[in-house]
Amino acid sequence: MFPEFTLCYARLPEHFFERFDPVPVTAPRLVAFNRPLAEELGFDLTRFDEARAAEWFSGNAVPQGAEPVAQAYAGHQFGHFNPRLGDGRAVLLGEVTDREGRLRDIQLKGAGMTPFSRGADGRAPLGPVLREYLVSEAMHRLGVPTTRALAAVTSGERVFRRVPEPGAVLTRVAASHLRVGTFQYFAARGDHEAVRTLAEMAIERHYPPLVELADSERYQALLEAVAARQAALVAKWMGLGFIHGVMNTDNCAISGETIDYGPCAFMEAYSPTMVFSSIDEQGRYAFRNQPWLAQWNLARFAETLIPLLDPDQKRAVEKATAVIEAFEPRYEAEWLAVFRAKLGLVKEEEGDRALAEAFLDALAAGRADFTLGFRRLAEAVEEDAPPLLALFESDGALQEWLPRWRERLSREGVGMEEVAAWMNAINPLYIPRNHQVERVIAAAAEHDDFAPFAALTEVLAEPFTEQPGREAYAQPAPPTERVFRTFCGT
Ligand code: AMP
Ligand code: MG
Repeated sequence: MFPEFTLCYARLPEHFFERFDPVPVTAPRLVAFNRPLAEELGFDLTRFDEARAAEWFSGNAVPQGAEPVAQAYAGHQFGHFNPRLGDGRAVLLGEVTDREGRLRDIQLKGAGMTPFSRGADGRAPLGPVLREYLVSEAMHRLGVPTTRALAAVTSGERVFRRVPEPGAVLTRVAASHLRVGTFQYFAARGDHEAVRTLAEMAIERHYPPLVELADSERYQALLEAVAARQAALVAKWMGLGFIHGVMNTDNCAISGETIDYGPCAFMEAYSPTMVFSSIDEQGRYAFRNQPWLAQWNLARFAETLIPLLDPDQKRAVEKATAVIEAFEPRYEAEWLAVFRAKLGLVKEEEGDRALAEAFLDALAAGRADFTLGFRRLAEAVEEDAPPLLALFESDGALQEWLPRWRERLSREGVGMEEVAAWMNAINPLYIPRNHQVERVIAAAAEHDDFAPFAALTEVLAEPFTEQPGREAYAQPAPPTERVFRTFCGT
């Protein structure tokens, strides 16, 4: 059933990882399996066997050709550098080549204590596993670069967090697990050759056009390319009201994919200072800070590349600084492109940024739901739409804004029906709302009922399409179920 492994990371020198076989679990049971993704990865599903799949996706059996390793990495966590984090509960089985010829990592998360566990148990509770499964797959369907979820298995064991919870293992698929923190691990040890090796791997896997460049240019080009992907990524998050929650350098992927769904959440009532994560006491990773934290992470990445950028250290620093400074205009341009599209604008006009910001201000002033606020705008292209107005606790700012927007739309030179259709293809109706995710987790963890999980997964697979009978999924949480705090749950 498993496609052939093409080992790439496990062929690096031994100090890049620790060889480590997943620790078997008592009673593995497959609770989620992503068939479309499996097909994309070249799995042969004609002889799909659930019990066998449970063995593989729990780590009880290691598929032929895999060489499991725990990857070494460091990271700045909430601004503080830890020189040795590494996969404390994950193992990379290896890479497979997908249908499009791209290498993809297959990793088991929750696979037991590794040499990087630092006293923690190496396991994952079912809740966070289902959360990552749901949210990462939703992000993919929303058009955001992200790691994917291939399978979830319950272990038949309990893990102890605030309370005992069922244990689980997530199979995660990523363009790669190279992180800013991977580069930092070696840079902190002065191992510039290892940094060069990682840079070459990153170029080959994620930025192949750069292979052609001379040594004197390629590492700066890599830094620029990573910056470009991060700018585009965070702009997409901002366009969806998504808060990652732990933008530490070890959770910043060189590929430009969203990685590590811990205390992440989608905002309901729009508030730019929103923070969900219980451990983010200072609000470091608040919604509006995300672009600047991505830039901060890029600066840490740039530091690791200094010895490669130029033999003259001063010149190397200048090159790095230029890229980091260019992040701001780059991000602002990405942000504007995202919000223009959300407002149904194709042409580019001077006042568009102010127009978009004014709508966000109106959302904030009215404490309106971010997702529905944009979605229902499409109903108001020509005249006021009561369902839109109903989202706002106070709609004065919105009432002032709407005529401004319609006047701007009139200069697009296209029919309003077309504009509305185009907006509905960009502004989702369904997102993984926190209370829905919590409900699904509670049903699974407390009652062993995975039907709500399956139902929500199905709804989120078509986020832009109105699904009759599933109106409740589009609704913000009722007051009694509003979520203000999320937990890493690691
Ligand atoms: P995260 O918060 O998931 O990004 O993880 C940060 C670091 O803590 C990584 O090195 C993880 O491998 C490690 N870690 C998180 N949870 C566990 C756990 N239950 N057991 C061992 N290591 C863990
Ligand atoms: Mg992490």
